[in-house]
Amino acid sequence: MLNTLSTITNKEVITLKKNSCLSCGSSEVSVFYEVENMPIHSVMLLPTRDKAINYLKKDIRLGFCTKCGFISNVSFDQSLLEYSTGYESTQSYSPTFNVFAKGLVRNLTDRYDLHDKDIIEIGCGQGEFLTMLCEIGLNRGIGFDPSYIPGRNENLEKNKISIIKDFYSEKYADIKCDFLCCRMTLEHIHKTGDFIRIIRRSIKDKPDTIVFFQVPDVIRILNDLAFWDIYYEHCSYFSPGSLASLFRNNGFEVIDIWKDYGEQYVMLGAKLAGKSTSKSISMEEDVSELKGKVDLFSKNNLEFLIQNFLFTHCF
Ligand SMILES: [Zn+2]
Repeated sequence: MLNTLSTITNKEVITLKKNSCLSCGSSEVSVFYEVENMPIHSVMLLPTRDKAINYLKKDIRLGFCTKCGFISNVSFDQSLLEYSTGYESTQSYSPTFNVFAKGLVRNLTDRYDLHDKDIIEIGCGQGEFLTMLCEIGLNRGIGFDPSYIPGRNENLEKNKISIIKDFYSEKYADIKCDFLCCRMTLEHIHKTGDFIRIIRRSIKDKPDTIVFFQVPDVIRILNDLAFWDIYYEHCSYFSPGSLASLFRNNGFEVIDIWKDYGEQYVMLGAKLAGKSTSKSISMEEDVSELKGKVDLFSKNNLEFLIQNFLFTHCF
């Protein structure tokens, strides 16, 4: 606590010329939140208590891009993470989450007419969501996830779904794709601009492909002072406006943006941009509005730490 408190008290919001925004390339990235020694993974299963306590810890320094609104951990090191079979992130045993997931499947099926289509899901986990998408619309699915455990999802085979235990990349550009789905994965990717450009190049010959992304909404985290929703493996944070900017800046037309799951998630639908520029959608906030929320989070977080510090040490 003391280290964290002193770090933040002594800090001014600074412009880091050496850090450029990984979404838009701007050098105007200001650090507004720092916390030291956070475990690099949050859902890794470890065999002993000692291994858990001594698990690798690194610092989080969230930077805000004043040009596009993208927030990321400027101290992040992607090479440290291990998305292996010990990584357990499934939410499919939660009845509440399953109600949400089924509702989203129905929503996407109706919204984008997903019937008899070829679907790719990046970061599909054990393929539960992809299975639902394929079952409801009689679609065909291919999932990508390095943490996939073969044999765990018995519904894959009967629905003609295959999962490739790998990160998605351009080497898979030949796979047919009417709908590319990527849920709760982009926040784990540091070089978000590079990643979206990989997707654009992969579907460059498929102009009708719909791309769908779901990420946590950073506006809720900022408004609720939800510091517990900031962790190391989430290196990238988006609002509706900054998520839309990422896609527009990289050759996509944004079709839809909406929020779901108690406004915790931002959903975005897009396709390759044509000649006309897509207009912004009413849910997109502008960067100055987001900056106000970032400043308030930074100020309130400092006050919270001071109060906590005084309570811990003086009473
Ligand atoms: Zn930016």
